[in-house]
Amino acid sequence: MKIIADLQIHSKYARATSKDLSLANLEKYARIKGIGLLGTGDFQHPKHYNDIKEYLKKERDGILYSETGFPFLWQTEVSLMFSQGGKRRAVHLLVYAPDGKTADMIIEYLGSKGRLDYDGRPIFGISCRDLVKDLTSINEMIEIVPAHCMTPWFGVFGSDSGFDSLADCFLDQTNKIHAVESGMSADPSMLWRFDEEMNIVSFSDAHSFWPWRIGREATIFEVKKLTYNNIIGEIRSGNIAGTIETYPEYGKYHYDGHRACKISCSPEETRRLKGLCPVCGKQLTIGVEYRVEQLARRDPGYTPKNAKPFYKLLPLHELISFVIKSPLASKRTWAVYNDLIGKLGNEFHILIDSSEEDLKKAGADPMLVQMILLSRSGELRIKPGSDGEYGIIEASESNHVPPNTANASQRHLF
Ligand SMILES: [Zn+2]
Ligand SMILES: [Zn+2]
Repeated sequence: MKIIADLQIHSKYARATSKDLSLANLEKYARIKGIGLLGTGDFQHPKHYNDIKEYLKKERDGILYSETGFPFLWQTEVSLMFSQGGKRRAVHLLVYAPDGKTADMIIEYLGSKGRLDYDGRPIFGISCRDLVKDLTSINEMIEIVPAHCMTPWFGVFGSDSGFDSLADCFLDQTNKIHAVESGMSADPSMLWRFDEEMNIVSFSDAHSFWPWRIGREATIFEVKKLTYNNIIGEIRSGNIAGTIETYPEYGKYHYDGHRACKISCSPEETRRLKGLCPVCGKQLTIGVEYRVEQLARRDPGYTPKNAKPFYKLLPLHELISFVIKSPLASKRTWAVYNDLIGKLGNEFHILIDSSEEDLKKAGADPMLVQMILLSRSGELRIKPGSDGEYGIIEASESNHVPPNTANASQRHLF
């Protein structure tokens, strides 16, 4: 069976989230989106741990189930701050546990290193290498995946406090790192150009006030039976069926820039500016595109043998909001969204599979139909995001030409 999974979730106890980010709401929006497996998020947080025990009473084969049978797996994210190689480092790592008993042992270990109750994504002064060594000696089925690997401040390859390679970061433990999470500002084709071979997964990092922001990115697994070992086995072997990515330009750190001065620029422009903001003279925040060029050892377009297919899509809320010129979370945007979901099924079905005819029959605005098809065919034009600001859909002519229909209809997922 094919399962779309979002395994980078945060709880309402994490910073910059809202009380709406409950497990029940995560399940509700996962179903609306077409997601079939979620991470629990933040399992080491004492209050969230209680919520998990309360909401997910059944555990089988390392998968937790809600009362209605929706599956979750034990997942958290930690922030490590340490120095290595004479530099200050900060890296976010996703941690997956094979069962509740192991999750308890991870909590005990993390509790011995620092406080667990002030944020869903706590900070520890341990190196990535030491964390991997210690956790995998608790249980070798614990999986650790560098999160949003290219973002400037907390990505393992980040321009500010990251490393130039996995080996530089994880040292003698590198062979225990099987995959990286691409993050919203990068897609697999950018990472294929690196020297090191790594499997690529993609998740949403739903660190938001809105639980319905899950699944902006996701990984598609094809397993005979849903078990923790099967899911992690696919991550380890690189045998996933594919990933769902947002357009990298849409991510908050694709281009370089200085947000306070409203400056956003391409890597060439940054080189011309010698890395300094032309308004205030401060250092520009170096984004993912620039950093990929620094680290890449192969030409753009290089595709490794084990490369997995990926879909490039913008969420339906973004497309509706653009077409009807109303904010993302407005009543009007939701009304259009709910109407389409009611008529056509889940969001991924609409974004990937619904035919032009079905979309029209469902009464979708012709411009919205076109945007869905453009998004699906990879032809949507987006003004790149930078320095913490999301990219936005360009209101130019280029987004008004009909999409290449061959591309737009060729992308059946199921
Ligand atoms: Zn993170
Ligand atoms: Zn500036």
